[in-house]
Amino acid sequence: MSAQRGLAILGSTGSIGRSTLAVVALHPERFRVAVLGAHSSWQAIVDQARQFHVETVVLVDPKAADLARTALRDCGSPTRVESGADALAAAVAAPNVEMVMAAIVGAAGLQSTLAAVRASKRVLLANKEALVMAGQLLMDEVRRAGAELIPIDSEHNAIFQCMPARYLPGEVARGVIRVILTASGGPFRCAAAGSLVNVTPDEACAHPKWKMGRKISVDSATLMNKGLEVIEATLLFGLPESQVDVIVHPQSVVHSLVEYEDGSMLAQLGAPDMRTPIAQALAWPERFASGVQSLNLAEIGQLGFETPDHERFPSLGLARAAARAGGTAPALLNAANEVAVQAFLDHRLNFTAITAVIDKVLQRLDSSPVKALGDVLNADAAARRAAVDLIETGSGAFA
Ligand code: NAD
Ligand code: MG
Repeated sequence: MSAQRGLAILGSTGSIGRSTLAVVALHPERFRVAVLGAHSSWQAIVDQARQFHVETVVLVDPKAADLARTALRDCGSPTRVESGADALAAAVAAPNVEMVMAAIVGAAGLQSTLAAVRASKRVLLANKEALVMAGQLLMDEVRRAGAELIPIDSEHNAIFQCMPARYLPGEVARGVIRVILTASGGPFRCAAAGSLVNVTPDEACAHPKWKMGRKISVDSATLMNKGLEVIEATLLFGLPESQVDVIVHPQSVVHSLVEYEDGSMLAQLGAPDMRTPIAQALAWPERFASGVQSLNLAEIGQLGFETPDHERFPSLGLARAAARAGGTAPALLNAANEVAVQAFLDHRLNFTAITAVIDKVLQRLDSSPVKALGDVLNADAAARRAAVDLIETGSGAFA
């Protein structure tokens, strides 16, 4: 019997997926890469499958899956290739998988993340949008199935590391009065309000500290990423929105903090490199190397902290309002954001209109209680329709 643990990496060709494989490559005795999943990037996934002797590859796009199947067969690889979102959900729930890295971007990751939770796996959660939209429903499934949910988002992973021993997300942590999420402030931290309307997708994606996929990079530039993270923190750590603070910290060295009732504040520090939270979650409750260089504090010299500017970056306020409203409000917010960010990346919407579209969608659609997954999916679809409508017929306001 092998001591290796079976790992599935969803979104393996993305930024988090590639960083996960880089950590796994340092510990070949610990992991067997059972499943890799992505949307359509077949050449990248074929290379990964060959390098890591992967058992099953799933590409959601059937044409890309055909190309990957042929390429792998031609080089004599035994890797099985499947296609479709249902195949991805089935592959993560299979008995040869013990841990699942959920790193698909956006609502598209919900089905496979839920499948992993329901199959009682250890789920390493990067796909914050799945948690934001499904909210308490997903957390209830975690508890019911006895799954382990370990946050990969650097802030939430930092908080997890600062929690009492044996704490797992979903529990209420004793003695914690507040968590403080740090935010780099994004590429426009010092930009004048009037200049934001004309920024380009490439400028928005040029993050000063983190190298990430384009969707989360735009979210970081609008600060909606921090808004989604506030909602994520309320769910993971069982805290009301009022006990989740945000502070801008441009150096991105302190990844977040936990405040206890005795006055202690615990923080996790490290280089801004996702391989650290990924390695922490893969090894938990042990520790192992991530390949990340240690911090040189003397070189960094000073750590700065500022309050976020809500006027230039209204997203944070919208997300907090959605957290307070509860029900389907976070799903509406998330879906409107996904549509607006994609329109911005496609040069169909200007930067400041992203939050304007989200605001309008939330004004148009009322939040309703979530009783079943269908309520979340209906809200997601309705918000997407409303956002597309506003962008396409936006009476010039968003052009
Ligand atoms: P990315 O754009 O680099 O990669 C996205 C991956 O998802 C790709 O492998 C792509 O093929 C796959 N994908 C996209 N649509 C899909 C679909 N419909 N079905 C199946 N697979 C699909 O994104 P990323 O930066 O790696 O981010 C992934 C997730 O991790 C996001 O939810 C993001 O918010 C979160 N996250 C990322 C970082 C980071 O540093 N990159 C940090 C914290 C959290
Ligand atoms: Mg983060």
